[in-house]
Amino acid sequence: MAAVIRIGDDMYFNPGQLAVGFARAAQEKGAVVLPNTAVTRVVIEDGAVVGVDSTRGRIRAPVVVDAAGAWTRQVAKASEIRVPLVTTAQQLFVTEPVPDARAELPMVRIMDAAVYMRPCDGGFLWGIYEENPQFFDMDAFGADFDVKDLSLDADILWHYARDVEPQLPILLRAGVREHRGGLPTMTADGQHIVGPATAVRGFYFASGCNVAGLSIAPALGEMLAEWIVDGAPPIDLMPLSIRRFGAGPWPDDELIRQAAWQYRHFYGAR
Ligand SMILES: Cc1cc2nc3c(=O)[nH]c(=O)nc-3n(C[C@H](O)[C@H](O)[C@H](O)COP(=O)(O)OP(=O)(O)OC[C@H]3O[C@@H](n4cnc5c(N)ncnc54)[C@H](O)[C@@H]3O)c2cc1C
Repeated sequence: MAAVIRIGDDMYFNPGQLAVGFARAAQEKGAVVLPNTAVTRVVIEDGAVVGVDSTRGRIRAPVVVDAAGAWTRQVAKASEIRVPLVTTAQQLFVTEPVPDARAELPMVRIMDAAVYMRPCDGGFLWGIYEENPQFFDMDAFGADFDVKDLSLDADILWHYARDVEPQLPILLRAGVREHRGGLPTMTADGQHIVGPATAVRGFYFASGCNVAGLSIAPALGEMLAEWIVDGAPPIDLMPLSIRRFGAGPWPDDELIRQAAWQYRHFYGAR
């Protein structure tokens, strides 16, 4: 029987507050935040970034960080830069309140099934790293597409709930209050892509989150800022550099095969 592992050190927070918190903190430091403004192209002259074209016109800048999540490839491709990551879907259920689902209960994982659960607002939040993740060509989504419009598949979650019924019978019994999902990016080795692009000065990446971008974003942001300002990161970040993948051509079928393996083995179980 697969074991349930108690993850005492894992922590959680409301993910919706994170980006808003960073944006407010940046504004307090003088940054100008332009919500609902899409970058259509990074403008490159003589091998160096000079700005971006956006839905509000051109913005001049010597440094651009492509942190466009599921659209990272599209932003780079508009300037003929390739980046080896693919977009997948991740979904979870939040249950209705459950007696004794106290906030101080730990997160738990069932490693073999790649299922996790934690307390959430009087019930539980639980999700999976499925066997056959779907990958998306973001060019196929229209310009008006919003992640909220992503069609989610509850049957996949129910399939895994049945799989772990001996360990977590509550997943099948509790009512579902919320079905939530999004479009994280995956790489061939399960690590982020952070740092400068190879051939264009001033073009940086902060992407390839591999469904773990929330937890590591503060540290990566700080290190990338130092990399940009000082010319080098404070610690060796070459394992996250796009250079580790060589010059390409990174065929999509191979990239998807490797990314699917990384996704399913998120918890390291074989
Ligand atoms: C269901 C689910 C559960 C998750 N659980 C965890 C977890 O437990 N722990 C964890 O660490 N991570 C988790 N993640 C992953 C986490 O949410 C991602 O790692 C993180 O959001 C990725 O951050 P990002 O900045 O790369 O992309 P995003 O958060 O998607 O941000 C990209 C932003 O770029 C914007 N953008 C796109 N194109 C353009 C453009 N052309 N011009 C301007 N802006 C553009 C988008 O609108 C978006 O605001 C989970 C994700 C999902 C979906």
